[in-house]
Parts: sequence; C-alpha cells; structure tokens
Amino acid sequence: MASGLPKLDVEGLTSFIDEEKINELLSKKSNDKVHVREIIAKSLAKNRLNPDEMSVLLNVDDPQLVEEIKEGARELKRTIYGNRIVLFAPLYIGNDCINDCVYCGFRKSNLDVVRRTLTINELEKEVRTLESRGHKRLILVYGEHPRYDADFIYDTVRKVYETKEGKGEIRRVNINAAPFDIEGFRKIKSAGIGTFQVFQETYHQKTYTAMHPSGLKSNYLWRLFAFDRAMEAGIDDVGMGALIGLYDHKFEAMAMLYHTIHLEEKFGVGPHTISFPRIEPAIGTSFADCPPHQTSDADFMKMIAVIRLSVPYTGMILTAREPIALRNEAISYGISQIDAGSDIGVGAYGKEDEVESAKKSQFVLNDNRSLDSVIGELCEHGFLPSFCTGCYRLGRTGEHFMEFAIPGFVKRFCTPNALLTLTEYLIDYASPEVKAKGIARIKEELANIPDTNPLKIELITKLSRIEKGERDLFF
Ligand code: SAM
Ligand code: SF4
Repeated sequence: MASGLPKLDVEGLTSFIDEEKINELLSKKSNDKVHVREIIAKSLAKNRLNPDEMSVLLNVDDPQLVEEIKEGARELKRTIYGNRIVLFAPLYIGNDCINDCVYCGFRKSNLDVVRRTLTINELEKEVRTLESRGHKRLILVYGEHPRYDADFIYDTVRKVYETKEGKGEIRRVNINAAPFDIEGFRKIKSAGIGTFQVFQETYHQKTYTAMHPSGLKSNYLWRLFAFDRAMEAGIDDVGMGALIGLYDHKFEAMAMLYHTIHLEEKFGVGPHTISFPRIEPAIGTSFADCPPHQTSDADFMKMIAVIRLSVPYTGMILTAREPIALRNEAISYGISQIDAGSDIGVGAYGKEDEVESAKKSQFVLNDNRSLDSVIGELCEHGFLPSFCTGCYRLGRTGEHFMEFAIPGFVKRFCTPNALLTLTEYLIDYASPEVKAKGIARIKEELANIPDTNPLKIELITKLSRIEKGERDLFF
C-alpha cells in the first residue's frame, strides 16, 4: 500500500549473507605478495572480485602491500573514472521516527531532539536557498514514520523539482528513507527519483537485533530485501551502505559484497552506489560517543580502497561526517560523490540559529565548508567538480556502470557534462576567487582534448551558449 506504514511480509525469505563463510574467510590471513598483486590486477582488468579475494585484501597488514592496494584503487579511479567528483547536498525533510536505533539522534526515545517536519512552504524555502547556492542534486532524508509514507515522499520530491530560484533548479532528487513495499516504491519512483538509498546499518544479525530494539526497522529481513522490492518496482538505482562502528568493519565490507552479488545474480545489476558512514556523536545519544567497533582512520581508508577494487563498477559516496583532510585523501581512492555545504538540521538551510539547528540534527558534521570553498579546493587539487545529471535526464540509468563498462563513455559524456555544469556554477554562483580557479581548471581540461576531436568543437559551442545565458545543456 502506498499510504501509511507498509505491512511487513518476509515469509519465505532467508538471508543471503553467509555469516559463517565470511568469518571463515576473514580468519585466514596472508600477506602473499604475488596473490595480492594478482587480485589487484584482476580488479584493474575491470572484474568484480569474489568474497575470498576481498577477504585477502581486507586482511593484508604489511604496510607496503597496503600501499599497493591503495595505489591500485587510485589507478582504477584515474584510468576508469578520471578526476570528476559529483557534488550534492542532503536535505532533511522530517525527524519524526517510530524506531529506536540506538545510535541515532532521531530515535523515538530521544527526548533531547526537537521534532520537526518541513511544511510544503518551508520545503520550498529550503530548496530555494540550496538553489541560490548553486546545488543541482539533492538527497532527501526522512525518519521512519506513518506521516512519511510513499504519497508524502512523492509530494516532497515533486515539490523540489517544481521549485526554481532564478536560474537555479534541482535536476536530480535521490532519497534516503525507510524501505517500502513494492507498491510504495512504485509510487516513489513515479515522482522521478534518482537513487533510493537504504543502509543495512549492520549486516550482522545479532548486532542488528541489539541496535534496532523496536519499530519496523527491527525486522532484519525486511530491510535486507529492500532492494529486491525496489527493483521489482522498477527502481534500478539503489544505494547500499553500512554504518561503520556497529560491528567489525571487515565483516560489513564483505557483507556488502554478498549483497552486491545477490543483486547481480537476481536482477543483473549491482548497487548504483555504496556508502560507509562512520558513526558520529548525536544529541542525547551517548552510544554514538563511543561505538563498540570504532574504526581507525587507517583501517577506514584501507577499507575504502578495498571496496573500490572489489566492486569496481559502483559509485562510492563519502559524506561530510568525515573531516576535510580525510575526505581529500579518500577521494583519490575512488570516491565519486561528496556532499558540500551540508546542513543536516531540519529546516537549517532557510536559516535559524546554529544551536537550534543542532537540536534538530541527526548527528554532527566534521566538514562544514561551503559549496563554494569545496569547489575551489577541488579545482586547486586538480579534480573536476560536477553537477552532471545527463544520464538520468536522458534515461541512461546506471550511469556508474556505463562509465565503467563502456569504453570512452567518460570522455564522451561525463567530462564534457562536468565542464558544462561547472561553467554554469562559475557564472551564476561562484565567488571571484573560485571563479578564477574554476576557469583555470576548465582550460586545463580543454587542453587535454585534441583540437581534431569533433567533440571539442561541440563542447566549446555549448560552453559559449552557456556564457550567453542558456542553461542545462548536456551530452
Ligand atoms: N530513517 C531512515 C533509515 O533509518 O533508513 C533513513 C534516514 S537515516 C536518517 C540515514 C542514515 O543515517 C541511517 O541509515 C544511518 O546509517 C545514518 N546514521 C544514523 N545515526 C547516525 C550517527 N549517529 N552518525 C552517523 N550516521 C548516522
Ligand atoms: Fe529513525 Fe532512521 Fe534514525 Fe533509525 S536511523 S532512528 S529509523 S531516522
């Protein structure tokens, strides 16, 4: 049903996460250089790794070999995806929640958090603010509550697309919300969403049960099969994730590979993106101050590189939960999307005071740079910020997979579209310093395209049309 809470039906489902097998694989340790290098080479030849291969990489602890794994991830990113980084912002719609996830500031029993759901007018104000800063891609975030049913999500998505501020508009809306039944997913898809994200949080069943003591989310299998229902409803862009800190990070990485393989085998397509948020402090939530499986920066970075190599075709997201220096380093291991200028208080963009906003936030962010300064830094470091939504708008779903699988796709579509959307940003929103850095970056990128390439002429024509005032041109 599209209205109200879904009826949980998990009859006949059994978990495809083979915990015993994962534990067995992770119990074997080897720093066999030859084998590790063979596995890296398999990934660089554009093959998804198998669980036994991923476990070998996760268990490497010889510093030189760890460096080779990271270098492998860097090379994969460089050669297949290039230097583009897609930018988005989260937009929190409401923090009412019927669940009691022990790590989350929005959980039902947390009396310290101020509950709020945006009205349609407040939503419009938030979107106008984000558009006036230059954002083109949003992820809408919701607690789990009967009021945030599929019809409500549909209405909020449509409102975001309809809202335009000056030359600004939102061109892609992704969702992070509780999982629905097939009918609910169908309704939400019909609003024109991009990716639907559902994080399993932890794939370890016993830990899952302890972390989710009540509410719909306490049902492990209902959540585990969320993407099966989404895909049956026609949503083929799904974003998986594990909340790092609840259980052993290596187990979670392995489980995400099992989840990926399950989707590949059943639907012929893996996840569009993989996320690995680490637990951050949250208001009224002492559990989040000291999670049971805190993962060090070094282990976290190695895990990112290993996931990059293990599922080479998927997009990888790293949010502003992480500090600036770590984000900058992780980008080189294959992160494809980051948020920028984020505020995660409900109603925070429209602006209220910071203390009030924190009381409506789910957790604390560690990267508070504006969108403009993130763009400036990315340009300085030789990256190419992108707001591209070309594939999605032309019905080319699964763009990460196409970038990966189709030779020349990135050069033909992704880089030109990144240049076009960056140019729009520089003209409409950038500060003078960032504009100068961005223009220099664009010149460098153009210089890399041979003058004889017909694409270059087409691209330069489109760039000059943007300079004359046209918007939303893409390949
Ligand atoms: N309520 C929906 C759900 O639980 O799936 C969707 C939104 S929830 C607000 C988004 C994600 O935030 C969760 O899936 C979880 O991984 C993450 N999260 C929750 N508490 C967190 C914390 N203290 N630090 C970092 N991330 C957290
Ligand atoms: Fe609610 Fe989601 Fe937070 Fe759990 S993680 S308490 S479901 S908002």
